[in-house]
Amino acid sequence: MQRPGKMISEVLKHVGKTPATTNYPFEKAEMPEHFRGKLQFLPHRCKGCMLCTKDCPSEAIKIKKVGDKKFEAEIDLDRCIYCGQCVESCFIQALVMTTDFELAALNREDLKMTINEKNSPKPPAEEE
Ligand code: SF4
Ligand code: SF4
Repeated sequence: MQRPGKMISEVLKHVGKTPATTNYPFEKAEMPEHFRGKLQFLPHRCKGCMLCTKDCPSEAIKIKKVGDKKFEAEIDLDRCIYCGQCVESCFIQALVMTTDFELAALNREDLKMTINEKNSPKPPAEEE
């Protein structure tokens, strides 16, 4: 056990220093650039080549044709290992990894996402 004098000097060394921990979840946590969080699908870019599906090591993404040149993604966040391979494979940047990491759910069904033209945001640069 440390002597009280030594402990006090240790405490005094840290008085006035900023805390090493953050105040999350009371304050929003900023994720670093290139953080691999929740996957986002941009259907208006997708060409339906299926490379993402073929290259995914955990069979977490499926692309379905839902109309003439229209595609929908089914992404299972419960299976996804956030490796980023599908993003690398997509030659047209129809898949992006966001910084969203708050993905806890009470059941696995809530981790299955279907993303299509109706529920996918367009990036600002592509707005009409
Ligand atoms: S990030 Fe990896 S595991 Fe997740 S869908 Fe893409 S390729 Fe599959
Ligand atoms: S790799 Fe890209 S373009 Fe090809 S099916 Fe997947 S999301 Fe669509």
